[in-house]
Amino acid sequence: MSEKTEAVSAPGAGELTITVVYDNNPYKQGLETAWGFSCFITGPEKTILFDTGGDGSLLLSNMEKLAVDPNKIDTVVLSHIHGDHTGGLGSLPEKNPNVTVYLPESFPKKFKDNVQAHGAKMIEVEQPMKICENVYSTGQLGKWIKEQSLVIRTERGLVVITGCAHPGIVNIVNIAKDLVKDDFLLVMGGFHLEWASRGKIEKIISAFKQWHVRYVGPCHCTGDKARALFEKYFGENYINIGAGKVITLADL
Ligand SMILES: [Zn+2]
Ligand SMILES: [Zn+2]
Repeated sequence: MSEKTEAVSAPGAGELTITVVYDNNPYKQGLETAWGFSCFITGPEKTILFDTGGDGSLLLSNMEKLAVDPNKIDTVVLSHIHGDHTGGLGSLPEKNPNVTVYLPESFPKKFKDNVQAHGAKMIEVEQPMKICENVYSTGQLGKWIKEQSLVIRTERGLVVITGCAHPGIVNIVNIAKDLVKDDFLLVMGGFHLEWASRGKIEKIISAFKQWHVRYVGPCHCTGDKARALFEKYFGENYINIGAGKVITLADL
């Protein structure tokens, strides 16, 4: 098999690495926490930053502490317009013509103009789409706050990453399943359950169980109550995610 064909196969064990560079939950000592979310993904064809957190200088300082080089980013995927996911974008290296920013089509014109003024290529996402080999966007979902989530196909199943899950985590996972027909290895990110009742959270957990989601990593806006319940029901397959957490396929 030539190297070219090798590159299009799904990332194998040891190849996918997700580094949480920004989260309001603490994980690694020495990193700063602040409300928001961002993670850096290597392994697929593209090196991806999913969301940017709220504060650019905090994003860059956490990246430095984690030895993540912002110049390596060639793709930025913004889940939704809220400042705790988009605020750090402006701090990324300027005039890097290799960066492509995928954002929901519903973003305000002013935001889009800024992205282009920054020298980045911009892709407006409406429908589900392929970002690169084995990496997909769910498309912008939801009625009020439109949001896209990331779906990564690995040789061990799908990894779904959400920003705030405003369109509903169950809805997002359902769409991901239709988009890429495979088992779920990991669902992680903000699940937006801070104010949800225990009954609602348990319903979501039972949906996850029915889909045979193997690992869960709820963080950011999931809320402590929901995180504790996911931990209770997933046991050792619950991943405690906070700023500085590194997840590799080999660890799962
Ligand atoms: Zn958020
Ligand atoms: Zn939000």
